[in-house]
Amino acid sequence: MFWLGLLLACAFATITIGVATQGAWIRRHLRSPLVVITVILAVCVLAIPVSLSIAVTQPGPGSGWTQYAAGVEMLAVVGITGLFFYMRHPPLATAHVRRVLVVGAHPDDLELACGGSLARFADEGHQVIAIVMSHGDKGGEGENREQEAIAGAESLELAGISVQDFTDSKMATEIEQMVKVVELAVNLFKPDIILTHSAHDQHQDHHAVHLATMRAGRRSPTILCFESPSVTSEFSPSYFVDISDYIDAKIAAVQRHKDQAGKPYMGSKVLRGAAVFRGGQARTSHAEGFEVIRALSSGVGDL
Ligand SMILES: [Zn+2]
Repeated sequence: MFWLGLLLACAFATITIGVATQGAWIRRHLRSPLVVITVILAVCVLAIPVSLSIAVTQPGPGSGWTQYAAGVEMLAVVGITGLFFYMRHPPLATAHVRRVLVVGAHPDDLELACGGSLARFADEGHQVIAIVMSHGDKGGEGENREQEAIAGAESLELAGISVQDFTDSKMATEIEQMVKVVELAVNLFKPDIILTHSAHDQHQDHHAVHLATMRAGRRSPTILCFESPSVTSEFSPSYFVDISDYIDAKIAAVQRHKDQAGKPYMGSKVLRGAAVFRGGQARTSHAEGFEVIRALSSGVGDL
């Protein structure tokens, strides 16, 4: 009974964490929460005959029926909590797996611009691969930054990342070569959706990557442009991804870029504030905004 009680207590704690963290933690760490809840409830159901048999075989004050009542009460608490969790956070459905190609200029661009969306897409079972065009030597230590880009992608649970070696701050002179890199990825991966920098971005590298991706993705059905800290006031998103459950995952991924930790746009307050602002535009609590170059309904679907 002691071990059963301990197991139930652990199960209860797991569900409580899930509820307290808005479901994001439990979703990201337990791939199939439905299985977990089923096991918990099965154990709870088993607790009834076990505690009943103890009650019958060990009658007496302070045990027996008292334990039985405690067991049933625990079953009720766990069951109600589990139900509450599922009502608030039903399992995410992946009706149609989409391939998402995301292209950024520097190692931290993707996490900053659309880390919440990428984490959400990966969690929903979509395939996300990333291309980072440079090691970011100008803004920090290139070798560290490459490792941090890989760590960021792992944190977001992307399917893959390729860190290229184009020249930080000089990408405007390398557009032809960047087009070839993105074209190769498009031909091999055949993405349903491409995400990249906006034309309304005053960073010369971001703008160059935007141009290269537009050319490489000229036959791709859906292209959305994300919001970097360097976008101009003309950046005007009309497509939003609800990241209410993923703002913490975004901040965690951004914080993998320790090389850039001192930059003002890397702070959690700034990231949270920006997501709240876009969330207000999208009528939700936290969101990331994208400009739509073009969007095919079957490609975007319920993303
Ligand atoms: Zn950048």
